Parts: sequence; C-alpha cells; structure tokens
Amino acid sequence: MNIVLLGAPGAGKGTQAAKLVEEYELPHISTGDMLRAAVKEGTPLGKKAKSFMDAGDLVPDDVIIGLVTERLQGKDTEKGFILDGFPRTSAQAVALDAELSKLGRPLDAALLIDVDPEVIVNRLTSRRMCKECGYIGTIADETCPKCGGEMYQRDDDNEATVRNRLDVYEKSTAPLIDYYRGCDLLVAIDGDRDPAVVYADVKKSLGL
Ligand code: AMP
Repeated sequence: MNIVLLGAPGAGKGTQAAKLVEEYELPHISTGDMLRAAVKEGTPLGKKAKSFMDAGDLVPDDVIIGLVTERLQGKDTEKGFILDGFPRTSAQAVALDAELSKLGRPLDAALLIDVDPEVIVNRLTSRRMCKECGYIGTIADETCPKCGGEMYQRDDDNEATVRNRLDVYEKSTAPLIDYYRGCDLLVAIDGDRDPAVVYADVKKSLGL
C-alpha cells in the first residue's frame, strides 16, 4: 500500500497516518517530523529549514525532494509507505512520480482529508504534541495520555503562522488535488468528524 496523504495543515493527516501505521505496520514518512528532528539535532538541514518552518513557509523543493528520495530507498518502504506532508508542490509531485516509477512502485491512492480552514485555525492553535512519543493531542492534555510525556506547542502553531501556512497550502498544495484526480488516484474524506469516524471512512475508502 503506497499512499500519499493530502490536506491542509491540521486536517488530521498525522493522526490518520499514525492509525494506519499502527494497524498495517507501514513506515510513516512525515517530512514535517523529519525536518523537526533535524532542527532539534542542529544538523545543516535543520539550520537551513528552521527559518522557513518558523514563518510557516515551505522549505525549498530541492532540499525536501532530496530528503524524501533518499528515505524511499530504505528497505522498509518495499512493503509500502504512508507519505505525510509530501508532496506539497507540483514540482514535488512530479519528482515523486519519477522516483516511484524508477523504483517500480506506483502510488495506490492520494488520500485527501478535507477540513474547512476556519475549523483548522482553532484546531491548530489548541494543538499540543508529546515531546517523547509525538502523540498529537490538545490543550486539554496536561501530559501525554499515551506515554505520560510532556506536551508542548509547536513553534509554528501560533495564529499568525497558522494563517500563513493555510495561505501557502491554498496556493501551492491545493492544486495537487486536481493533479491526483487527473491521475485517478484521489480519494476524498470529510475530516471534520471524530478521528475514529474519519479513520473508519479512510479504511472503507481504501478498501482495507
Ligand atoms: P508539517 O508538520 O507537515 O505541518 O510541516 C511543518 C513545516 O515543515 C511546514 O510548514 C514546512 O515549513 C516544512 N515542510 C514539511 N513538509 C514539507 C514539504 N513537503 N515541502 C516543503 N516544506 C515542508
């Protein structure tokens, strides 16, 4: 199962990816998580990416395409993968197609988690994440309900940056919906529901 997750920031891609990964034991390739890890470790990639991320802008295509292309070479992706947060531009989608056709592993679906932008502003500004396990929760979670770890707010989850991320999404990433519709790969799900209900719909729509 080779899947790309589409949807605005905060639509629930990470939450749905975590569920798919747990149930089907597929590698979760989240470019946002990879970049945040690089920033935390202070690598050259992290240093380059940080200012873009803090502003809610996209990291340059060449940087991110190189990162994902290398990750797809990993042996673990042979049984399938969930790509979360990539592609985000047409250039990334074209590069992904080229790489997957080279590997002989075409996409099975582009899954769109669809949520209204105003719902997203509220969701993201009250989102909190676990420092230890990456669990995605809300401001109501004082500690992580999964592992007891400390919860924190992402640097880019403040309202001004969230609004910029939504603008960037509309301009650069939303056109990919038509791109994947044209490839007959688009599966659209209403993401403005309880995560468990969304997940049941995800599985049904993917024929799982
Ligand atoms: P995310 O966790 O997916 O919301 O990503 C957080 C931030 O990382 C984004 O706002 C971008 O600055 C950067 N980022 C993640 N994935 C990509 C991508 N595919 N292309 C460019 N920038 C990205």
